[in-house]
Amino acid sequence: MDSHQMKWNEQVAKKIIQELEKRGMEGSYAARAAQARDEVIAMIPPNSTVYRCGSMSAVSMDLWPRIAQIAGVEVIDPFKPGLSFEDSLEPRRKGLLADVMITSTNAITLDGKLVNLDGLGNRVAAMIFGPKKVILITGMNKVVPDVETAMARTKNYSGPVNAIRMNIPTPCAENGICVDCKAPARICNVWTVIERQRIKGRIHVKLVGENLGY
Ligand code: SF4
Repeated sequence: MDSHQMKWNEQVAKKIIQELEKRGMEGSYAARAAQARDEVIAMIPPNSTVYRCGSMSAVSMDLWPRIAQIAGVEVIDPFKPGLSFEDSLEPRRKGLLADVMITSTNAITLDGKLVNLDGLGNRVAAMIFGPKKVILITGMNKVVPDVETAMARTKNYSGPVNAIRMNIPTPCAENGICVDCKAPARICNVWTVIERQRIKGRIHVKLVGENLGY
């Protein structure tokens, strides 16, 4: 990323943070993923429960092994190796009452709306209500002008890339194109658009000046 792109990231992030504040949310910006990771870790209160939701952004910055090392913090992790889908449902339920939830948003608009598409719905449910604090790690590659563009990006890009990543038997995993399938394993089932947060500051968007996630 050159200095012009970095400047753009910084300027646009500043504007989005202002818009988030008008919507009862908060935001902050880190130019680098490593800085963002340290700032997210600093936001976790001592002796808290932290709900891990799907986010390649968090994985790519090596966040979870570091959180697991914090004394007194319990990670509620539905992605533990060896956990069957059925067994993963209990931590997904338990996570709804966690102190902190960490995930990403599929897209964020220039005026601060959060657009997401979930397979099961546990991630978007927890974003809406439950965990006391929601931290969304969001690379500037996920910034879009409006909700319509956010939905198009999510369905045509994030969905197929995630299906490919997880080797899900869907048409998009085969050819990279969304055909709005009816496959039993379809990963795009629940849309949410968060326009405002009633509990002020509960949602914190950590914008990052690097490409993270899909
Ligand atoms: S609707 Fe089906 S084809 Fe489209 S992105 Fe989702 S899983 Fe893939």
